[in-house]
Amino acid sequence: MAYLGVAKNTIEVLKKYNFIFQKKFGQNFLIDTHVLEKIISQAEITEEDVVLEIGPGIGTMTQYLCENAKKVIAVEIDSSLMPILAETLAEYDNVKVINQDILKMDINRLVQEENEGRPIKVVANLPYYITTPIIMELLEKKVNIDSITVMVQKEVAQRIQSKAGTKEYGAISLAVQYYAEPKIVANVPPNCFMPRPNVSSAVIRMKLHKTPVVSVKSEEQLFKLIRASFSQRRKTLINGIGNSAELHYTKEQALKALEEMGLGENIRGETLTLEQFAALSDLLQDMY
Ligand code: SAM
Repeated sequence: MAYLGVAKNTIEVLKKYNFIFQKKFGQNFLIDTHVLEKIISQAEITEEDVVLEIGPGIGTMTQYLCENAKKVIAVEIDSSLMPILAETLAEYDNVKVINQDILKMDINRLVQEENEGRPIKVVANLPYYITTPIIMELLEKKVNIDSITVMVQKEVAQRIQSKAGTKEYGAISLAVQYYAEPKIVANVPPNCFMPRPNVSSAVIRMKLHKTPVVSVKSEEQLFKLIRASFSQRRKTLINGIGNSAELHYTKEQALKALEEMGLGENIRGETLTLEQFAALSDLLQDMY
């Protein structure tokens, strides 16, 4: 059995099928067995797990997943990869390949149909052009997930993991940390991929909270507030709230809520923790 994590085997398969890389699909295939093994071990895949893989490519990581998991559902947009996957995954009977755009799928329904009542694990070397929409879709739609272990651009991984007061901290940090505990588990240089991407990558694991770390009266309002606070980074929080098209509070109301929290009028969104955003959201909510 030819493991595709070995560069020579990947090259052979690509040649055999005259495969042409599609830049628009973010195709950078892994060719490093150490990185693949690290992803599998950090994702803590066991024989009981149902795994959703987004973008299997030619099946490099899928092979590893099939050997470690109970079942693998692999969703791939590029139909020219279907005959290749049929060959590279031929010896596994625990994989289901779906030729679809993951962003157009009802992931909740897919998971309910496939997971046999257990939370699934998501593992992927993500196409970087849709990293944030995919992660947010999985989290916001409250798909029944245990953990998400994904390869992303290094700076995105750092933003996701960063804490209040750092320069990387932003709406994505807060959004992910509301739902999950993120941790960068590996740094991956460009030479581990074919073709080599222009950026460095990192594997980040997001373990979903079983119970929310903060509770708010309205999740919808909390996320509107977070977006408003980071839409104009150099502006004060009061201006961000007052100018938001999504929120309907005056600057005076925002100031009053901040004062109740013991915060000054010049405070900026990037210094507030998730807990403080939640408290502010509830205080504003009470003003209606
Ligand atoms: N998993 C493979 C690996 O590690 O070698 C390939 C990873 S490559 C970075 C990303 C894969 O996602 C490509 O195969 C690409 O065609 C696929 N892809 C891109 N956009 C997608 C989408 N919207 N839905 C499903 N798959 C997508």
